[in-house]
Amino acid sequence: TTETGRDFIRDVIQADLDSKKHSRIVTRFPPEPNGYLHIGHAKSIALNFGIAQEFSGRCHLRFDDTNPTKEEQEYIDSIQADVRWLGYDWGSDLFYASDYFDRLYEWAEGLIKTGHAYVDDQSPTEIRTRRGTLTEPGQNSPFRDRSVEENLDLFRRMKAGEFPNGARVLRAKIDMASGNINLRDPVLYRILHAHHPRTGTKWSIYPSYDYAHGQSDAIEGITHSICTLEFEDHRPLYEWLLDKLPVPSKPHQYEFARLNLTYTLLSKRVLTMLVRDGHVASWDDPRMPTIAGLKRRGVPPAAVREFVKRIGVAKANSVVDVGMLEFSIRECLNRTALRRMAVLRPLKVVIENYPEGQSEQLEAINHPDDPAAGTRRIAFGRELYIERDDFMENPPKKFFRLSPGTEVRLRYAYFIKCHDVIKNAAGEVVELRCTYDPATKGGNAPDGRKVKATMHWLSAAHSKPAEIRIYNQLFVNPTPDAANFVADLNPQSLEILADARIEPAIAESNSSEPVQFERQGYFVRDKDSTPDHLVFNRTIGLRDTFAK
Ligand code: ATP
Ligand code: MG
Ligand code: MG
Repeated sequence: TTETGRDFIRDVIQADLDSKKHSRIVTRFPPEPNGYLHIGHAKSIALNFGIAQEFSGRCHLRFDDTNPTKEEQEYIDSIQADVRWLGYDWGSDLFYASDYFDRLYEWAEGLIKTGHAYVDDQSPTEIRTRRGTLTEPGQNSPFRDRSVEENLDLFRRMKAGEFPNGARVLRAKIDMASGNINLRDPVLYRILHAHHPRTGTKWSIYPSYDYAHGQSDAIEGITHSICTLEFEDHRPLYEWLLDKLPVPSKPHQYEFARLNLTYTLLSKRVLTMLVRDGHVASWDDPRMPTIAGLKRRGVPPAAVREFVKRIGVAKANSVVDVGMLEFSIRECLNRTALRRMAVLRPLKVVIENYPEGQSEQLEAINHPDDPAAGTRRIAFGRELYIERDDFMENPPKKFFRLSPGTEVRLRYAYFIKCHDVIKNAAGEVVELRCTYDPATKGGNAPDGRKVKATMHWLSAAHSKPAEIRIYNQLFVNPTPDAANFVADLNPQSLEILADARIEPAIAESNSSEPVQFERQGYFVRDKDSTPDHLVFNRTIGLRDTFAK
């Protein structure tokens, strides 16, 4: 943030409003529909839509659909759903760059007529190798000095579909010796015989990002065109084109640092490969950093907005600790999630002095900080489940939970003590024989005796079975190598607990609201869940446990 307590972009906008350079702010979020949105896009969405809200302006949702070989309707639909889920609304301001194809084409002919563009017959490889490097100027194309008539004729024939893919391109005629490689006669149009989701087979040529983007901004009257830092070096080209073309407005481009997060990769290219090659189940796999993945995992949209606000908007790239995102998620869920009990890895407990065939209802509170959330009743009986990890037959010194001879509290219920350990033929503990103290009902002993642990539990007869999916980081490396990401994948990113038990109240409600399973974390019903096979996702544990 700056001295004003805002970021540099908001400072610019305030200054532009104060100086009356603009009377109303218009921003845009311009995704290419070639994949699902990820949390990096959420930063851009929150910035562009947030600015429109704060300054009473507008924010357009514009699909940058200029590359038909990679774009699909599924992505267009998911992007709209994800922006809405994040809590933003473009109203009637929904646009497609493809709606401007006719105008962009006319303007390109205009550039040819004014001597600012030419058709180049070099192959893509020749164009690349003759572009030069940072230290070496590029070489002029042998086709650079074609006449206007020849250029127009060839460009029209490119449009008419007379040439195969890659045979020719239209290039801006700027400066092959420019220190900025983006100004070395950048490509404006390429030949592509491809079906476009919106324009069908009308076009055999498609505009480049650089040509389409700024002109779309100008057509829509965008005042502040905000993009990520990689485009800083494209700004001179953005401005060159606006200057040479009869555009109806002159937007200005500003760049901010893209979001990078530890233990993940925010790149549609990588995320596409993760899905395509089966490293994850789908775009909305809860391990994915996609908005759809976060949603399915149970992350509230408010937590994403809060996170994006916390990290702020800077002009230098950095990698944000995923712990910051997790902090926002926990903070948000702690406020809202109702408390429930679930036993993820059950171990049977028989209370020997509890009468057979009987049970009772005990009262449990739904939220410790919110009395208005009320209470619920949970069943207690002779056969219970506790968490397998909460018992040790030969505990080390600091282990205060259940072990032979120790007494512990079962939350909202009674003190119990373990007497016998029953094992199977393999020597694994399969059941504990315990007794309870009826005088400790509600969790306190009238004689004032204390216990060192309080554990969650469920009645065997009343609880319901469920599958619980635990998600760990998708990558083992805090900064995975995007070029060789498969080597950095975490083989333990998904852990399935097939025999968990949950409170009947959760099983019966159809709610997809997040819940806290006490001592375990935050959970949400997965879309795979059916009444006969309940499935819950762990959104996040209660504490930060993974190794830093
Ligand atoms: P990727 O690199 O993942 O393919 P992209 O930039 O190609 O992303 P677009 O669909 O073009 O994806 O992005 C739409 C908008 O979102 C752009 O303005 C882009 O700058 C912004 N954006 C993309 N990734 C991030 C990120 N990690 N952090 C912030 N903004 C981002
Ligand atoms: Mg892009
Ligand atoms: Mg990209």
